[in-house]
Amino acid sequence: MTPARGGSPLHVIIAGGGLGGLCLAQSLHRSGVSAAVHERDDSAHSRDQGYRISLKGTGAQALRACLPPHLYQLAQATAIRQARLMSFMDDQLVPRFAKDIPPATDGGFGVNRRTLREILLAELPGVRFGRACRGYAATADGRVEARFDDGSTETGDLLVGADGTGSAVRAQLLPDAGHDDLGWALYGRTPLTPELLAATPDVLVDSFNRVVAADGSAFAVATCRPVTPYAEAVARFAPQVRLTPIQDCFSWTMTVHGPLPRGVDAAGLHALATRTVAGFHPAVRRIVAEADAAATFPVVLSSARPVGFWREPAVTLLGDAVHTMSPGRGDGANIALRDASLLGALLSDAARGAMPLLRAKQEYEAQMLDYGFAAVEQSRTAPFAPPRPVGGGALGLPPFLRGPA
Ligand SMILES: Cc1cc2nc3c(=O)[nH]c(=O)nc-3n(C[C@H](O)[C@H](O)[C@H](O)COP(=O)(O)OP(=O)(O)OC[C@H]3O[C@@H](n4cnc5c(N)ncnc54)[C@H](O)[C@@H]3O)c2cc1C
Repeated sequence: MTPARGGSPLHVIIAGGGLGGLCLAQSLHRSGVSAAVHERDDSAHSRDQGYRISLKGTGAQALRACLPPHLYQLAQATAIRQARLMSFMDDQLVPRFAKDIPPATDGGFGVNRRTLREILLAELPGVRFGRACRGYAATADGRVEARFDDGSTETGDLLVGADGTGSAVRAQLLPDAGHDDLGWALYGRTPLTPELLAATPDVLVDSFNRVVAADGSAFAVATCRPVTPYAEAVARFAPQVRLTPIQDCFSWTMTVHGPLPRGVDAAGLHALATRTVAGFHPAVRRIVAEADAAATFPVVLSSARPVGFWREPAVTLLGDAVHTMSPGRGDGANIALRDASLLGALLSDAARGAMPLLRAKQEYEAQMLDYGFAAVEQSRTAPFAPPRPVGGGALGLPPFLRGPA
């Protein structure tokens, strides 16, 4: 490989081993570019991250470009069954809008987040857990020194801040970058037993749904069961990979009135969810009642304000670290994977000597800021959590789809 700078090969430091950072690392590994990932969490399993992520065509294509073929096939084989119906209902499940969802033609598929992260970690060298990046310093020779909370440092040609919404890298690079608060939502998980499945109306199973009460509180549930049993998928595509077994479940989301309660544990949040759906159809109440209460968690929704170009020549940002957005449209991971694929390809060119590193970085940033913030803008008007300053009326949504005022 052609030296990138000063006679030594390109080395990329990635802060954050989430979906975007790991996908970039896979891309660089595939093209033989040296990369190290530093992840704050102590291990891949420190936090429960087992909810559904919908990959659209964009995200699936990016994943395919970055992963070796057998790992991409494993991701596809462990996909969650596709929704076949879109339905919006009132809190008694009276339909207000419904249409069939044709089979995806853009290559998109749903995945369990934990499973996808395990696949992204598979066969990847250079991932270090329990090491949070706390900033960086430019070196005299135009490189960058990343600094970690354990006092250690690492020098590379490029530092990529892929450290999520609360990014420490962004805090230093763009101290004035702001976020708009879009409220919060509750997430929960209910094991899918045969009894519960039999008792749940079809309209809530394998569907993209939203159940909205007159007061604006809302519930949506995704059926999470893989197309192929994990053991079969692993044996077929990547026998050396270990995937944590995932129990089939209903993964649900709830829009709740009032501020996010502070200091409330998962059981308290589950109790709040139970109170919120007390007047809903019995099928909704049952899904919440049979939930794994300990798996209930809140998600604070925020939307990044657009940022301009930055001058730092050896630092860039990727994914939620720069363009965090509401999960309402299901775009955040898709865009983070797109960032990883784009940056990975450009860095591969730079490492081969096909273009200077600085030009590769600037080209990435120009494209990423453009499509990334376009997605942020669109996510602000997603019905999942309408931005408070705008409101459902201004969005042209029917009243049953409006969020809390
Ligand atoms: C409940 C929920 C459902 C969602 N559903 C969808 C969906 O269906 N489709 C979709 O496209 N998007 C979805 N999203 C959004 C999606 O999860 C994010 O946009 C995506 O994970 C962003 O990837 P990322 O790599 O930028 O950040 P993350 O995946 O958040 O990864 C950041 C990583 O950096 C680590 N980190 C943080 N600080 C540091 C530090 N200082 N040093 C080192 N490491 C650090 C974190 O521990 C984390 O592992 C959803 C989000 C939520 C919360």
